[in-house]
Amino acid sequence: MTFNANKLARPELLTLTPYQSARRIGGQGDIWINANESPYNNSELDGLNRYPECQPPALIAAYSRYSQVKQSRIVTCRGADEAIELLIRTFCEPGKDTIATFGPTYGMYAISAGTFNIGVNEIQLTDDYQLPHGWQDKAQAAKLVFICNPNNPTGSIIDKSQLAAAVASMPETLVVIDEAYIEFSPQYTSTDLLERYPNVVILRTLSKAFALAGARCGFLLANEAVIDLVMRVIAPYPVPLPVAQVATNALSQSNIALMQQQVSELNVQGQKLTTALTAIGATSVTPFGNFVLAHFSDVAAVQTKLAKNGIVARAYKDTRLANAIRFSFTNAAQTQTLITALSS
Ligand code: PMP
Repeated sequence: MTFNANKLARPELLTLTPYQSARRIGGQGDIWINANESPYNNSELDGLNRYPECQPPALIAAYSRYSQVKQSRIVTCRGADEAIELLIRTFCEPGKDTIATFGPTYGMYAISAGTFNIGVNEIQLTDDYQLPHGWQDKAQAAKLVFICNPNNPTGSIIDKSQLAAAVASMPETLVVIDEAYIEFSPQYTSTDLLERYPNVVILRTLSKAFALAGARCGFLLANEAVIDLVMRVIAPYPVPLPVAQVATNALSQSNIALMQQQVSELNVQGQKLTTALTAIGATSVTPFGNFVLAHFSDVAAVQTKLAKNGIVARAYKDTRLANAIRFSFTNAAQTQTLITALSS
């Protein structure tokens, strides 16, 4: 049993010629009149009158340096959300295929699948939010298995050895590890699995630790065969030029150091918040992302306190989370305000 990306992909993609965008065709010369662009640049940004590169080389190089993943294994796109959608569109046939997820988890896997008429098999995580024994039996039919690590909204983590075993146990399926929050627990990254298993995909984003949610920039890290297929489905110009510039700048050595310093500070505040939540009787599992999910005996009373203090946190309708609220870690002043409000 070996992984064959082409066998897993939607068959029509194998014969499809991807759109030859202006920058992909390329060419040599000084007069560029191949893409119906304007010759006038009316912006302060250099080159904004021209279509951007499909995969901006400076951004890919910067992310490769940061992640220690080879450039040939990186695709950049409009946030991890677009990466989820790209995977579903590349590998799943509408009305026929399914994905597997581990609930409770990030809602976009199911929503993205739903928009393409792809079935979702949500397998329940255990009480301590680990993969349940024998989950593979339930996931056999799935084209893609999504594992969110650290998991949103529970904040829980699955150990690296468990993830490696999960990937190894489904050799003909793509196992997608969503590491949107990995900077808050970097020692848990699974990027090394890319070297060992061709069926693993890792999702990353600049929206969380890098403080660029508004820029919409994410990354899909995978084996070259998977990347080749995803590149058949991706839009001609997924990352706008200003976004590529902002993102590349965020990945400079000094800005990575800034990110790490902010992550440390947020983790300190998160620890303070978690301790305070325990003190008022809430229960939570140790958080590994930049948020904590707290369960309350009287969640309505907590919501009233938050509303009174103008604090907006996230509550859930999911039955397993009906009495829970997710709090994003924030700066020291806001954390203090939150703790005071909760303790009132
Ligand atoms: N994955 C997870 C687990 C998330 O929580 C989020 C954002 N809420 C995303 C992906 C999407 O991230 P992006 O902003 O890069 O689209």
